[in-house]
Amino acid sequence: MQPTPSLAVRTGLLYDGTGKPPRRNATVLVERGRITRVANNDDNVTADRTLQASSVTPGLINAHCHLEMSGEANTGLIVLMTPIQRTLVSVENARKALLAGVTTVRDLGGADSNAIELRDAIAAGTHVGPTIIPAGRALCMTGGHGYFIGRETDGPWDARKAVREQRKAGADCIKLIATGGVLTKGAVPGLDQLTEEEMRAAIVEASTHGMRVAAHAIGTNGIKNALRAGVNSIEHGHLLDDEAIAIFMERGTYLVPTIAAVTCIFEHAHDGTQPDFVVRKATALYDAMRHNIGKAYRAGVMIAGGSDAGTPYNYHEKYAYEVELMNTILEMSPNRALSAATKVAGELLGVDAGVLEADRPADLLLLDGDLETDALTLRAPRAVIKGGAIAIER
Ligand SMILES: [Zn+2]
Repeated sequence: MQPTPSLAVRTGLLYDGTGKPPRRNATVLVERGRITRVANNDDNVTADRTLQASSVTPGLINAHCHLEMSGEANTGLIVLMTPIQRTLVSVENARKALLAGVTTVRDLGGADSNAIELRDAIAAGTHVGPTIIPAGRALCMTGGHGYFIGRETDGPWDARKAVREQRKAGADCIKLIATGGVLTKGAVPGLDQLTEEEMRAAIVEASTHGMRVAAHAIGTNGIKNALRAGVNSIEHGHLLDDEAIAIFMERGTYLVPTIAAVTCIFEHAHDGTQPDFVVRKATALYDAMRHNIGKAYRAGVMIAGGSDAGTPYNYHEKYAYEVELMNTILEMSPNRALSAATKVAGELLGVDAGVLEADRPADLLLLDGDLETDALTLRAPRAVIKGGAIAIER
């Protein structure tokens, strides 16, 4: 995938990722992989190649995915996979995500260092996929949620060591497990797991090395523990309360609601394909999630797009569904939901992608329709451009 030396994209509507109303009749000029200018269509910008689109958006940023997982109905079975099988799966999921318009992902936990190695292979141009911000292995308490792929840790000093291990392996960020979760048998989503003290120690260590920290937190108290410990983002957050919303606001912490994760399990609850405990836990969370996340959004908590892709029926190449759910469940406008999945997610990850303006990476999607009148147009971009290279053109 080589960038075209210069590329002009002429579009009827330009959604720049900020949530501002779209600009009409604009041309995005791309040179050496970056956007160098956004001009009017009648400015007659010339380039080696010119493409046309009805509308253009930034490439999507998925702030929460697991590249080793592919949406299997029974996640329990993936623990039986060999490291080599996991590698093959990760490569394929990264490719599918990019071709569907996801140009950056944060991988929040896997058994091996697949996402780390894949990040480097993609950056080197030998493999096709999004820019990857990997967390390495998630830090969980002994026997905690996801322990079979995580780094079990107990006590503040061991938490610091566990962070150092992820950094040594090449991780860019850190993932903490603050409460139980849906996909681990016996882990109760509402109950605390890592303590506030353990999380604070991990965060101090991570920030020493410039690494940001995300916490899986579903239970009310665990969400507040993670917020007070100082995480950059709460993942899921389904059982948050008013006090938690106040701490989010005070600290400027992001919320990545992963609406698709519980929704996809819920939508397939009667298929008979998922373990009973998974269906039971997701069903119990479904209404609370809709209510609480909506409340947090209306209160002004910063919502960043992330789907937890890889969980049951929640595919890497279907990230547009999370954008649709932010629209239908949180009642964000389609443009605002797009902004959550581009600009806001980019800010959370600390990357400069996610906004279409001069001096940003040329990660953009060419669409056949207008997402404000046709929310489904984001599901199948006509072309995906990453770093100035055309990944796919349909
Ligand atoms: Zn996850």
